[in-house]
Amino acid sequence: MSKRDYYDVLGVAKNASADEIKKAYRKLAIKYHPDKNPNDKAAEDKFKEAAEAYEVLSNPEKKQRYDQFGHAGVGGAAGGGGFGGGSMNMEDIFSQFGDIFGGGSPFESFFGGGGRQSGGRRVAKGSNLRIKVKLTLEEIAHGVEKKIKVNKQIVCKTCDGSGAKDRSSVSTCKTCGGSGSVRKVTNTILGQMQTTATCPTCHGTGQQITAKCNVCHGEGTVRGEETISINIPAGVSEGMQLSMSGKGNAAPNGGIPGDLIILIEELPHETLKRDGNNIIYDLHVSFIDAALGISVEVPTIDGRAKIKIEPGTQSGKLLRLKGKGIPEVNSYHRGDEIIHVNIWTPKALNAEEKAILEKLRDSPNFKPQPGKNDKSFFEKMKEYFE
Ligand SMILES: [Zn+2]
Ligand SMILES: [Zn+2]
Repeated sequence: MSKRDYYDVLGVAKNASADEIKKAYRKLAIKYHPDKNPNDKAAEDKFKEAAEAYEVLSNPEKKQRYDQFGHAGVGGAAGGGGFGGGSMNMEDIFSQFGDIFGGGSPFESFFGGGGRQSGGRRVAKGSNLRIKVKLTLEEIAHGVEKKIKVNKQIVCKTCDGSGAKDRSSVSTCKTCGGSGSVRKVTNTILGQMQTTATCPTCHGTGQQITAKCNVCHGEGTVRGEETISINIPAGVSEGMQLSMSGKGNAAPNGGIPGDLIILIEELPHETLKRDGNNIIYDLHVSFIDAALGISVEVPTIDGRAKIKIEPGTQSGKLLRLKGKGIPEVNSYHRGDEIIHVNIWTPKALNAEEKAILEKLRDSPNFKPQPGKNDKSFFEKMKEYFE
């Protein structure tokens, strides 16, 4: 199933301000809120879709990656590892509201207190994890799936992340009755005001543990290793960051795992140089080949290619292999390979070679006669990139 564009989801322009994005989301969140649309699956989906779009577009770092890479840049990288796969649950969504509506649980007041018990329940979030991925030019040109072993906090298998020794050592928090929040009534000049606060006993988890797990000592997570497969789109470059939602460190006590941030590093290529989306190759041909013309093989990102050196080719000539460069991320456009022809002058000659060349020394065709078509290398480069 292909995902809708986040800007379309919120109905805002690509250049919408943070404030416009917030307002658009607020409107949709109110319209599709589950309390207002009970048992309406379509509304719930719209509600989640809007929350996901807002989650990305309200975060400058994620927004930038989304603008650059589309869904692949913000969690779709592993083909479903993102919140599209459902890792953004209702808890996450409601936790956004503090920012949007400037308070804990707005809908109780909006819709007459539907009794969203879990409104104040706090869910722990694991920390983000950063890793570097080194890529060859070929991998960058074609995109690659990398399987990478990552050392991180993983969910404790012994207690399944609960941090408890066994089933009987988990009980519902007596202070809050499992809701994770407590209500306080405060007297103000406007009358009594009801507010909710995180339960001080269980810190919002709604549970109390009487005996801790022997392996993780109650944390719910342990140090471990996970092999993560990362789909890197073609066209990335040094310093770019991709993120995979939910692939970072596991959170204590069954909370939401953090994100995995992947920093791209380029490995230098033996013969090819990258210049933006173009590939530059320095070709050396003998002056005899340049004078007589020849067909030569050059390396490209897709293997070797044959090119023709026309008779009379001058040093510094630029030849272009169209579409043999690096693709742009999320686009069908590809750069070119540019071949820079260098004429090789022999550095040493034996007696026989010297004699042959001496014969040619005064031949009129060997005297340089640059015409107005023989531009300097810099003029040619300038023409090329303008
Ligand atoms: Zn409690
Ligand atoms: Zn454990």
